[in-house]
Amino acid sequence: MLAILEKIVEGKGEDGDIELLLELADTISATALCGLGKTAPNPVVSTIRSFRDEYEAHIYEKRCPAGSCQKLKKIVIDENLCKGCSKCSRTCPVTAISGKVKEPFTIDQTKCIKCGACIATCPFHAIKEV
Ligand code: SF4
Ligand code: SF4
Repeated sequence: MLAILEKIVEGKGEDGDIELLLELADTISATALCGLGKTAPNPVVSTIRSFRDEYEAHIYEKRCPAGSCQKLKKIVIDENLCKGCSKCSRTCPVTAISGKVKEPFTIDQTKCIKCGACIATCPFHAIKEV
């Protein structure tokens, strides 16, 4: 169950993972020999029951609604707010930001390490985490 949960928070969840978690939880509860084992899956079952939409957002939209899963975070530039000053691109440690001066800049998501340095740098608050 832990392996499935880790896969989900890394954005690698697949269709059927929720059902598999519930099935495993049932099996563990039914077959564990002690009370501790029987109740071990409860946190997963109760969070699926109360926050199933969040599990689905992670699996199907690769999105963390609570903004907690580091691997699902995305740093983006709002093209309507960006003035093309280039300050952020000079700050980025991995040269993930590019663009032409006075035009909206963009972030290469394959390079971005989500350090957040550019967010604090932008004088126009055009960069945000989603
Ligand atoms: S610092 Fe802000 S305004 Fe300047 S290029 Fe970057 S995102 Fe655009
Ligand atoms: S979050 Fe860090 S790595 Fe990503 S674009 Fe901004 S400065 Fe570059």
